[in-house]
Amino acid sequence: MENVAIFDSPGKGRGLKASKEFWAGDVIFSEPSIAAVVFDSLAERICHSCFRTQDKLQRCGQCKFAHYCDRTCQRAGWAEHKQECASIKSYGKVPNENIRLVARILWRLDKEGSMMSDMQIVTLEELEDHISDMQEDELKDFKVDIHNYLDYWPRTSKQHTIDDISHIFGVINCNGFTVSDQKGLQAVGVGLFPNLCMVNHNCWPNCTVILNHGNQSAVNTMFHSQRRIELRSLGKIEEGEELTVSYVDFMNLSEERRRLLKTQYFFDCTCEHCNNHIKDDLKMGGREVDGVKPTEEQVKEATDYCFEMMDKMDKARLNGNYHEVVKISKECLEKTEPVLSDTHIYQLRMWSTLSEVQAYLQYFDDAADYSRKMVEGYMKLYHPNNAALGMAAMRAGVTHWQAGEIEIGHGMVCKAYAILMITHGPLHPITKDLEAMRMQTEMELRMFKQNEYVYHSMREAALKNKPMAMMHEPRSVEEGIKNLFHRKK
Ligand SMILES: [Zn+2]
Ligand SMILES: [Zn+2]
Ligand SMILES: [Zn+2]
Repeated sequence: MENVAIFDSPGKGRGLKASKEFWAGDVIFSEPSIAAVVFDSLAERICHSCFRTQDKLQRCGQCKFAHYCDRTCQRAGWAEHKQECASIKSYGKVPNENIRLVARILWRLDKEGSMMSDMQIVTLEELEDHISDMQEDELKDFKVDIHNYLDYWPRTSKQHTIDDISHIFGVINCNGFTVSDQKGLQAVGVGLFPNLCMVNHNCWPNCTVILNHGNQSAVNTMFHSQRRIELRSLGKIEEGEELTVSYVDFMNLSEERRRLLKTQYFFDCTCEHCNNHIKDDLKMGGREVDGVKPTEEQVKEATDYCFEMMDKMDKARLNGNYHEVVKISKECLEKTEPVLSDTHIYQLRMWSTLSEVQAYLQYFDDAADYSRKMVEGYMKLYHPNNAALGMAAMRAGVTHWQAGEIEIGHGMVCKAYAILMITHGPLHPITKDLEAMRMQTEMELRMFKQNEYVYHSMREAALKNKPMAMMHEPRSVEEGIKNLFHRKK
């Protein structure tokens, strides 16, 4: 690992710094997982080996718990599953995801020792567990997990001390990384990547982490079909500069980010953006019309009203009541849009939800307008190379394309592509999707400029075939990946 070095970061404990200069999109390091498991709730819908979402999965004939795409995935996952399979059978039930993950880690540790690859810069023993920082009720759940773990762990496997076991539980509690599906659109599991645990947080970071499940058809790379994360640079990083990622979504107000970081990761954020409350005013601001600003009271009233309606909107969405979602949010926006700024985070939430729901209901013009407002707001708040901004631009590109607004659609797709080339890299499946979209929209734009009639008739035919199907049910938003590390509720 010649690219990074461990150092003492002032006020933060250990951290990682760059050993050389990096530029936007550089992969600083790439790291395979020590172990990863599928969430309890998705155990039957996600392949336990490649973590892809599949309609039809085959069940492991032995434990009847693990599911796989096919024999190839089952064989690839056997080393990880072998002992787990036998333990589930003799335990007679399936322990929760935390217990399954800890057991997988300890089996691997027993087999390979604490340095599992040349790239690993820290042992599991050296990672923080923060057990002494835990609150009483958290500690209670923690002890229940350990108790169940002891029942599950086979007597024939190597026995560990309670301290060693607790330590691993503590490590995954604060550093269990949220594993997404192949396309990075849905959180499907949790895994452990030790080097990544060494990267400190900053609300305005210079790096981003992306999961790449690897190329199953690649036979030459050492990462063949291995799930791994990449730490990628978001801009120029000087030699010696600390490397940081953001553990929480910057869309939260500084106070809320600090609260989340304190309760979930046990530290007080002292980053520049928190200390100076940077962009909080935009996120909660009022709209200026002809030089006149609404009073603080008016803004507060509209904010509170929005908050209340958002709750109703979310409930309707979860119930699949999409027409109700549209009714509630349109009513709310009618009242609050004249008062609140176009970067107000509640307005952004409503526009985002509305654009998704309207696209699903096939009101593409409406969906396109809301998605554009969303992206324009995001651009004023997020770092220009933020992955969430890139994904939002991608969604806006698709809805504009669906609405027949090919010029804006192509522009949005290009914008998304430029961001994802940095945050995800050219080999990520979602970047490849975008590349195909970019070529398609470019071709259509050329056609549009030559002959609008031909363009529109071709678009209608294309819509019927839905080549850019992103029209999944708009329920998955809440399951989206907002936090870097997974926290069990
Ligand atoms: Zn699979
Ligand atoms: Zn099995
Ligand atoms: Zn901060």
